[in-house]
Parts: sequence; structure tokens; C-alpha cells
Amino acid sequence: MQWDHDIVIVGGGMVGAALAARLGDADISVGLVERGSAPTPPSGDYDLRISSLNARSLAFVEASGTVLPEDRCCPFRHIDVANQDGSGHSLFSAHDSGMDDFGIFIENRTLQYALWQRLENLPSVTCYTQCAPLSTMAASTGRMLELDNGKTLSARLIVGADGAHSTLRELAGIGVSSHDYHQRAMIINVETELPQQDISWQYFTPTGPIAMLPLSGQRASLVWYDSDEATKAREQLSNDALKMAIETAFPERLGKLTRVVARASFPIKRQHAKRYIGKRLALIGDAAHVVHPLAGQGLNIGLHDADTLAELIINGRDPGDYISLHKFECQRRLANQAMIAATDSFHHLFTGSKPLRQLGDLSLHLAERVPLAKRMMMQQANGLNPFKMR
Ligand SMILES: Cc1cc2nc3c(=O)[nH]c(=O)nc-3n(C[C@H](O)[C@H](O)[C@H](O)COP(=O)(O)OP(=O)(O)OC[C@H]3O[C@@H](n4cnc5c(N)ncnc54)[C@H](O)[C@@H]3O)c2cc1C
Repeated sequence: MQWDHDIVIVGGGMVGAALAARLGDADISVGLVERGSAPTPPSGDYDLRISSLNARSLAFVEASGTVLPEDRCCPFRHIDVANQDGSGHSLFSAHDSGMDDFGIFIENRTLQYALWQRLENLPSVTCYTQCAPLSTMAASTGRMLELDNGKTLSARLIVGADGAHSTLRELAGIGVSSHDYHQRAMIINVETELPQQDISWQYFTPTGPIAMLPLSGQRASLVWYDSDEATKAREQLSNDALKMAIETAFPERLGKLTRVVARASFPIKRQHAKRYIGKRLALIGDAAHVVHPLAGQGLNIGLHDADTLAELIINGRDPGDYISLHKFECQRRLANQAMIAATDSFHHLFTGSKPLRQLGDLSLHLAERVPLAKRMMMQQANGLNPFKMR
């Protein structure tokens, strides 16, 4: 049977586009189906959605020939984690792990645009925009995908990278387990008087963490986690009142703010698909898992899914055969489950009852005083195997 493509990917967000670029760079025929339009060049001020990319994610994106614009990437060399009352504190430095930096902070739209730019130059990739799947049916050596624009595509493997509300996951009948943290993350882009561009810090408070993610120039993205009610009340504040509230609640090290540039808030949930694979079908990124963003790992583990799947496809004989998909599920479910458990424990250890918070303090003390534990935590956060000796 002649298939339209080797692989069809549903969802051209950062994870789907990164997989398409890596496979296209290896001359594999890919169809990328995106509900929206192709992304437009980022312009003007920083966007609100920012993500950290760790060493493994950056290496994967760059292996596809994608070039990220240096002036919109902010490398960071230190991560400082502390309790706001000063009872626990741990400073992680990239140098201690023999690295120059931990990775970069980049706007989601800048990363997505850079990936799509790469796709334009890959002859084996075809992008189908402004369309979405209506139905899907598996055959023995491939799968059909009916789109809402009247077209039907076929491929040896169909990959769902269509985000937390994945249509492909639903069409394949794959359920999810989920949990609502009853918390929101308010993201606030600010201009700071102080330069603090090589460090990212996070302080835990009993109502949720507050964090500073550096951007290029004297810009920062602040993240203020709090209950639904408190965040909704904060959203009513004028920019000047919000600036004062930040200067009161955030640690002194942030210094004065020159201005609040933009803000928005997002609900915090965790979700995990019951299976990552079906017949000639795989789920990656938020379609497979959504984790608490306090450790900045959601996109990273999505890109690690794409990296693992890409290697199995590039080095295998039949993309989508059961053995490859089974290997993918085994490797990624274990790693993602560990990340879900870690972020969940962080949440409960630092925003739970007093005894739990004391345990949280103890874990920060331990990380600070036991170099091996600290190194393993840093390697885990970088997507590297913490049990592999140099
Ligand atoms: C407040 C907050 C802060 C975060 N910070 C970080 C961080 O610092 N580091 C980090 O690693 N992660 C972070 N994350 C998580 C990260 O944003 C997500 O994990 C990531 O965006 C998931 O990417 P994705 O490509 O899988 O899904 P999405 O970004 O949701 O992309 C899905 C794509 O599929 C398309 N689509 C949807 N439905 C269909 C359909 N039916 N048909 C066709 N196309 C479709 C959409 O248009 C979109 O382009 C954060 C999350 C939050 C909420």
C-alpha cells in the first residue's frame, strides 16, 4: 500500500514541530496537521509564555538544523531555590556539573516560529494548516486520518502532539487521569532596575511558589502561584498596584521594578494519558502528560518524548511497528511518571501542612550539603541520566 507520508503529526506546537523538523532533517516524509495558521514572526515586546529549555532539549532542537535567534535567548547559569522565611536554601550552579549553563529561557512563540522556519526548508515535510482530524482508522501497516477540510491522509504512524485537550487521543479512545491543584500561575513580564540575567530563582511560600525567570536585557518573567481566589483578586489590580504588591511579596533581591509590561494567569493541573500508544499511533508532549510547571519541565519532557520517538523511527525499519512503539512507551512513561511524582511532591512539600513544609526544608538542606544528591538533581533537571557516571 502507498501511504501519503511515513509519519503524520497532529499539532504544530513546539513539540510537534520539533519532531517534524528532526524527522524532515533525516529525509523522512512527514505531514504536519495544525489547526491554526503557520506562526508569524515574533515582533515587539516579549510574549508572556516563556519556557526553559534544558541541555537535552536544546541539543534535540539544534540537531534538526533549527537556528534560535540569540537575541531572544537568555542562558542561565544558576538556580536558587529557597523557603521564603529563610529556613531552607539551595543554590545550583551549572559549573558544579561541568556545564557552562543550565539552558536557556525563550518565548514559546519564538521557538515555535524558528522550528516552522526550518520546516519551510525541508522538502520532505508538508504542512497542512487550518485543519483538524475528524476520525482515524488503523490498518495493519498504517493508519488513515480524515480531516475537517475534506482531505484524508494516510501514514505508517500518526503522532498526536495536539496538546492537553488532544483530539487524536480522544479519537483513539485513550483516557486520562487528572488532578486539579486549585492553583493558578500568574505570569507577569516586568522590567527590573537590577540586572540579574544569569540566575533563575524560586521561593516557596505556604500559598505557593514565587519565581523569577530571566529574559534578555533587564527583563524578567515573574511567576506567582496562588489559590484561584487570590489570583483572581490580584488580576483586578492596576499595573501600578500590582507593581507595589510584587515589591511587597517578592524577596528583596528582585529590587525595584521599572514597570509591569504584561500579565495573564493559567490554571494548574496535572494529567497523564492511560496509554501513550495505540495501533500505528503515539502521543507525545502535553497530549500525553501535563505536569505542574513549578520545575519548568513540561515542554522539556515533551521534547524528550519527541527525541526518543525520532531516534526509534530514524534507526528502525518500520515506523509505527509494535516493538518500536512499545519501547517508546516503556522509556518515556517511566521518565515522565518520575517527573510527575517529583513536581507533585515539591508542590505538597512546600505548600502543604507545617510538618510537610519542614520536610521540604530538610530536603533543601540535604541538597545543599550532599554534593552527590545535588549533582543527581541537576542532571535529572537537565534531562541527563543521573545514574550515569562520567
Ligand atoms: C504557566 C506555565 C509555565 C510553564 N513553563 C514551562 C517551562 O518553563 N519549561 C517547560 O519545559 N515547560 C513549561 N510549561 C509547560 C509547556 O508550556 C507545555 O508543556 C508545552 O507548551 C506543551 O507543548 P505541546 O507542543 O505539547 O502542546 P501545545 O503547546 O498545546 O501545542 C499543541 C498544538 O497543537 C495544535 N492543535 C490542538 N488541537 C489540534 C487539533 N485538533 N488538530 C490540529 N492541531 C491541533 C495547537 O494549535 C498547537 O499548535 C509551562 C506551562 C504553564 C501552564
